[in-house]
Amino acid sequence: MCGIVGMVGADSGILRDTVQRLAGMEYRGYDSYGIAGLHGDESAISVHKNVGSVGRALRAGEFDSLPDTTLALAHTRWATHGGVTQANAHPHLDALGTVAVVHNGVIANHHEIRRQLEHEGVVFASDTDSEVAAHLIGRHIAAGATVLDALARTTRTLTGEYALGVIALSDPDAVYGTKRKSPLVAGHDGTRAALASDQMALTGLGQVVFLDDGDLVRLTPTSTEIYTLDADGQPVAARRPQVTLADQQTAEKGTFPHWMIKEIHDIPAAISTALHLPADQFDGIIPTGAARPAHLIGAGSAFYAAHIGQYLLAELAGISAIALPSDEASYLALLRPGDAVIAISQSGETFDTLEICRAALATGAVLTSVCNVPNSTQERMATHQLRQGSGPEICVLSTKSTISQVVLLARLALETGQHHGTLNSDQYQEHVDALTRLPEVIRGFLTDEADRIQEIAKQYSHVEDWFFIGRGHLFPAACESALKFKEVSYRHAEGMPAGLFKHGTISLIDEDFYTVALLPSAHAAEEQYTATLVAVSEIAARGGPVIGLGSQDADPDDIAAFSDYLALPYLDNIVTDLIIQLVAGQLLAYYCALHLGREIDQPRSLAKSVTVR
Ligand code: GLU
Repeated sequence: MCGIVGMVGADSGILRDTVQRLAGMEYRGYDSYGIAGLHGDESAISVHKNVGSVGRALRAGEFDSLPDTTLALAHTRWATHGGVTQANAHPHLDALGTVAVVHNGVIANHHEIRRQLEHEGVVFASDTDSEVAAHLIGRHIAAGATVLDALARTTRTLTGEYALGVIALSDPDAVYGTKRKSPLVAGHDGTRAALASDQMALTGLGQVVFLDDGDLVRLTPTSTEIYTLDADGQPVAARRPQVTLADQQTAEKGTFPHWMIKEIHDIPAAISTALHLPADQFDGIIPTGAARPAHLIGAGSAFYAAHIGQYLLAELAGISAIALPSDEASYLALLRPGDAVIAISQSGETFDTLEICRAALATGAVLTSVCNVPNSTQERMATHQLRQGSGPEICVLSTKSTISQVVLLARLALETGQHHGTLNSDQYQEHVDALTRLPEVIRGFLTDEADRIQEIAKQYSHVEDWFFIGRGHLFPAACESALKFKEVSYRHAEGMPAGLFKHGTISLIDEDFYTVALLPSAHAAEEQYTATLVAVSEIAARGGPVIGLGSQDADPDDIAAFSDYLALPYLDNIVTDLIIQLVAGQLLAYYCALHLGREIDQPRSLAKSVTVR
């Protein structure tokens, strides 16, 4: 993960500009931060770093007293190697202090390089994998290489994944970068130039270049020079298309206390946007008559969206699909040319998901991207794009973007089901009508039921252990709600299929282990409803308290089995009932975390865009 920003400019204010752009990328990691600076007429690179959040440090005025620079290189970290300490925060300097380096990714052969350098007398200042890059570059420069050559030679030594930003005393008018599998974008506007992990940090720089793997870039205020390595490993000038950045959407928290609750209130709009995507955009994603299963891939909440998609495709379109967590997909996805692969990622930069996208393309699969960030790596790779358009999501937990992904997958299932003739037009229309009414129903739910959910959350926030159970399409919904709950409340929560529960897991149940059961409509999904209630009574019989979510048409005798029951609005079975369940789960997680005083928008150890293996 980690966010990188490097800037160079003739005007004043470069240091502050760099930090401000970096603070906008805190979603990539927020355990520590640092900035290296150089004024063109100085002879030493200055470094300021600290543990904690760069955004908070900026608001507290921590950078106000730092002298301005013409060159700056900054980083916000999500530690992979080495603890969260000031010494391990980036940038890292080489032994002579002539080069500063920031890194996103994991250098796989860092032990080996470190051992060799230590053997040659280099003393390391940090425990990170990243510091080896600073020493390697510094040593090549000390031996007479240009910064560009030093960077090129260093990349020939490194294995693993990296985006590197580099500044050097020997070229005080330029920022350098290179990448392999981690994102890097560059641009200049004639007076200043910037290099960053994310296009959003390049706002105002007009046209930018998305670097390809193996590219090297030298940025000056008036130029973006791109190089690749020739067969002998020498840098040669290259050209890359320039992309005009769309106006960046900005987000305002308004009067909401947290981004999470604000973004939950954005859900109706996110659903409407997903519903407005033209129907023909779903054509060809799953070819008619395909004999092989589609593969749905995602990580974290996007995996649970994929898992929900698997049920939607089976139940609505009669299509076999396999949902896989991106990090496991390479072991299980036996892809062949023409197979449908649907990759789901809010950021479009999820490392594990991009790995399987690359493998899918190499096999000749038809790759579809479901993604919220336009122009992301995933989107640029894919054959088909389903753009979520949910707007920026600032809270590290996915709320509106997960719902929007589920809506797009529901539409894929509905459009494909109709096209393949597995849904008749009445069934299709019933689900489409329910989806159309959904934004309004969720608006009402947020207004009418928030207090009740807050009460439940408060009453049970002391509970340490939770199961979330469901059957059929409500099983992956239960898993997603459990994930949300644990991410933000730091309480142990696991999603389980209601039917599997009795095959072992039930041994954990006692009066301290609570369960949330997701119930479908008693009438529209009678078998699923009855079978879920059997699991509830088995848990209750062993003293386990159960909170019920769902079905307004539940029999009062059935509801009596629950310690608490929240009846949810109902529109249709399979599509909107599960989305309403997800929203209820998000609210439960939010209010529980609120009551426990957790860091809601930036929970410990998380990052929004997971760009490392
Ligand atoms: N591996 C580097 C570190 O631990 C960078 C981590 C990252 O990109 O998240 O400092």
